[in-house]
Amino acid sequence: MINVTKPFLPPLEEYEYYIKGIWKREWLTNNGPLVNELELRLKDYLDVPHLFFVSNGTIALQLAIKVLGLKGEIITTPFSFVATTSSIVWEGCIPVFVDIDPATLNIDPALIEAAITSNTTAILATHVYGNPCDVDAIQVIADKYNLKVIYDGAHAFGTNYKSKSVFSYGDLNTLSFHATKLFHTTEGGAIITHDASVAKEIAHMRNFGYDGPEHFYGLGINGKNSEFHAAMGLCNLKYVSEILLRRKEQSERYNTKLLSLKVSKPVIKLHIEYNYSYYPIIFESEQALVKAVEALHGVYVYPRRYFYPSLETLNYVPQQKVSISSDHSKRVLCLPLYHDLSLEEIDMICRALLRSQNY
Ligand SMILES: *Cc1c(COP(=O)(O)O)cnc(C)c1O
Repeated sequence: MINVTKPFLPPLEEYEYYIKGIWKREWLTNNGPLVNELELRLKDYLDVPHLFFVSNGTIALQLAIKVLGLKGEIITTPFSFVATTSSIVWEGCIPVFVDIDPATLNIDPALIEAAITSNTTAILATHVYGNPCDVDAIQVIADKYNLKVIYDGAHAFGTNYKSKSVFSYGDLNTLSFHATKLFHTTEGGAIITHDASVAKEIAHMRNFGYDGPEHFYGLGINGKNSEFHAAMGLCNLKYVSEILLRRKEQSERYNTKLLSLKVSKPVIKLHIEYNYSYYPIIFESEQALVKAVEALHGVYVYPRRYFYPSLETLNYVPQQKVSISSDHSKRVLCLPLYHDLSLEEIDMICRALLRSQNY
């Protein structure tokens, strides 16, 4: 059986090394030494000034909206994982969907201005499949209308834009380190800021608002993560460069083998060093997609429809029409891609796909 993804696991001895340290120190959570070490290593790897390791990518999004004090309407993309939209609603704001660019499947900056009202406070956009949004165009609009910019970077670990980490752009960046992501800590996430005063707020907010053992700085929640999760992250970080290279090789194999398949792929624009975190293909029709999925199931291959359905269909958001997202979400399929998927397995998947198209 081949699933769309498979979590990377480091050699057990390497994890055990860290676990023994936890037993020795008897320090399990609350900003322990492994959490600190992971944060330092990640800041270094991503070349960002302030990074907080939190419980998951959804808490990171909620903290981002909360720490900026956002109210009213937040412009966002309907083509993302549900957490991007649910976090906006959870924080008492209204998601205003702007349709996507059919070439990249990211929010279309050309449509943002028309959606801005006197109640708009921010733009929350996702770097879909790790392919960066048009961060330059988005920043121009944000500056013109005095809006904050948050990027949901759950897919974007390892992607660079103009020779810098994609997390260098926008006011806040959120990451997910869930087991299915390219770099993971089992469960986990992070929030990145370039502003020291925002960093100070996040540090308190993540820990119930505590400012010393008997004093509260302000409102907070429990967004902390544990030494065990940090240990997994420290082990996995060692292998990230290898995983990135491998995914490039695997994606190129798909490209070569699928040349004659009647599908298109999201466009990766100039100045982008892509992380190959997913391998999405866009069919000509939903019918063609369903046929391909059936053929793959026939050979025990389980791709996933990321992202389906489009988020304007959620029953807790105001009704809005976003036809490109709605249409593309019905036709896009992510093929299996993970560290130890072999080139032979990829060839087998490609043969099944090509057969499904011919008969
Ligand atoms: C995975 C994901 C999240 C949520 O992250 P969790 O760590 O699972 O909470 C948010 N946004 C996107 C785009 C994701 O893919």
